[in-house]
Amino acid sequence: MLEFSKLVVETAVANQSGAMEADTISKHGRSSKSHMSRGNFLRKACVLASALMIAVLAAYGGGSDGRSSSITLDEFKRQFNEIRANRSLDDDGYSLDWNYQQNLGSAKTMKGDIYILSCFISDSKNQWSYDEKMDIINKYQEAVNWLKNQALRYNVTVNFEGGNFGLDTDIKLDNIEYGSGRGNEDVKMVSRVLKKIGYNNSLSFYNWVIGNTKCRNALVLIFTKGKGTGYAMAFETKDMNEDLYFVEGVMLYERYLNNSKLASSTIAHEILHLFGAWDLYKTFRQTQDREDKARELFPNSIMLRTSFNINELYIDEVTAWLIGWKSKTEAWYEWFKPSKK
Ligand SMILES: [Zn+2]
Repeated sequence: MLEFSKLVVETAVANQSGAMEADTISKHGRSSKSHMSRGNFLRKACVLASALMIAVLAAYGGGSDGRSSSITLDEFKRQFNEIRANRSLDDDGYSLDWNYQQNLGSAKTMKGDIYILSCFISDSKNQWSYDEKMDIINKYQEAVNWLKNQALRYNVTVNFEGGNFGLDTDIKLDNIEYGSGRGNEDVKMVSRVLKKIGYNNSLSFYNWVIGNTKCRNALVLIFTKGKGTGYAMAFETKDMNEDLYFVEGVMLYERYLNNSKLASSTIAHEILHLFGAWDLYKTFRQTQDREDKARELFPNSIMLRTSFNINELYIDEVTAWLIGWKSKTEAWYEWFKPSKK
């Protein structure tokens, strides 16, 4: 009923196409103890060579304009206090009791053990090759390793485990959403894919994780053959339909719209959204003003830009606070709060 409140958080850059057969889901059976053994998953992942690493700025608006960092954090805090004195912080439509760190849905706080279900999907016109899937799994590993290392910078321990569907044979779906970054993407993709795998609804997947693993956070990564702009499907408000949206997930595409291959930094960026991270670049919910300020304060934040070399990026302190890595709240964090639409 309140589906319109399900907000799409779009990604930096995007792409992809793909596809393949159907009716093979049952053989993976959701009754199997795990979604494909972890050992098998990792062993296959090792087959691939490392992903191509080319430093590239994101293709989104604003881009690199040569501006260099010119404001200190102390200066910004002072400016923020002046802005705050002259502006209602709730003029973006948020209620006064809006909780910035929502901690709702299946991915609440990025701490401890986190379960990630990876799925490979395609439509009738395309299909993944095995090597392409291995390439993606390599990037996935790079993304989660980077997240673990970033957590250590904030003295937080994070471990990722999980399983996979569609590695041997693509999960086949009709009417797949190929994200465009407009914000009107299909936000039912997680429940559609889970249903295809064999879950009655997305909550039964979450209950499986709680009952069979030590993880208390879970999410779904949907790797889609073809081109598109990835997007995150986060459970943002309590009035959303839990059967459809409680399990949070991400749509990611083999290639961006400009045809370059998916970067591991985009995988990490989208996962961060599920734990509450905000975009720091201009989007349908974020202003140029905020992007400009982020460029000065956190020029290499993963929520501001993407790169084919994830190691030149970091998690800025606003994002760290949003995902639960930093307990002390600074008033100026809320200046980067996205608009509510
Ligand atoms: Zn984003």
